Amino acid sequence: MMSIGLGELLVIAVILAMPVLAVLGIVLLVKGTKDKTNLGINFTIPSACPKCAAPLPAVRVPKNFRQMMFGGWTCSGCGVELDKWGRELTK
Ligand SMILES: [Zn+2]
Repeated sequence: MMSIGLGELLVIAVILAMPVLAVLGIVLLVKGTKDKTNLGINFTIPSACPKCAAPLPAVRVPKNFRQMMFGGWTCSGCGVELDKWGRELTK
């Protein structure tokens, strides 16, 4: 007779949930990349500020929490905030 407690069931549930979460994460990333949301991956990094055309640094130093989490720049020329897609952020 096999004996399974709540702990084992929890472990099994977590193991079974992991591929589902991984797939969900990939779907979110792909969808975000397609729709250009915060969760997307930008493979074509913008090279200049759309407002003042100042070159954007290749090495990005996050200036705030949002930039740390989702990427983006603060333009060194005009100080405008850009998202990771190089779009001007409206506050
Ligand atoms: Zn600028």
